[in-house]
Amino acid sequence: MSDEIADLVPAEPLPVRLMNTVWADRHGVHDDLTSVDRLRQWLERTGLDRTGLERTGLDGASQLGPQDLAAFRRLRAAARRIAAHVTADDRPAATAGGADLAAAMADLNADTTACAPTLVLDGGDLALRWRPGARPADRARSELALETAQLLTGEPGGLLRACHAPGCVLYFVKDHPRREWCSAGCGNRARVARHYEKHRPRD
Ligand SMILES: [Zn+2]
Repeated sequence: MSDEIADLVPAEPLPVRLMNTVWADRHGVHDDLTSVDRLRQWLERTGLDRTGLERTGLDGASQLGPQDLAAFRRLRAAARRIAAHVTADDRPAATAGGADLAAAMADLNADTTACAPTLVLDGGDLALRWRPGARPADRARSELALETAQLLTGEPGGLLRACHAPGCVLYFVKDHPRREWCSAGCGNRARVARHYEKHRPRD
């Protein structure tokens, strides 16, 4: 069996791609981030392994450990919980087990500030530098957390939507006025469901 991650809607902004590592099909809800190796795959796929002000990369992501997996999963849970709040998400499968909103916000805030860059003087020039000693994985998570906070609070955060196609648990950014679904596949399934509902025998 392949252990490839799904990364279903790669055109979405990174915070939405993180949220969408929880996804569903007709067999149920799945999770892309269940091992350190899968987290490494996800960071490589999204380019986050190469992110950061100093572009140092993750050294082949070899430094990733179980604590990073736990930390990225915690960030994802926080992002999904806050996204559920801002999109008034009422999908049971998408919001199951969601923590308290205040706790989710505290988790996200802890990540945005964990290794926040600071202004320093470098030979008379101002430079923005990561906190000394910050691990690359922590920097990547910190950047992602900040981007997530921005998405959830402003444009295009105001356009974040929950996909209400049958069984879907994904989010998407409504980048077109007529866009209603996370993907064409969900649009098709929703149309089929509507058709079925319309032509269902009534008693
Ligand atoms: Zn969908």
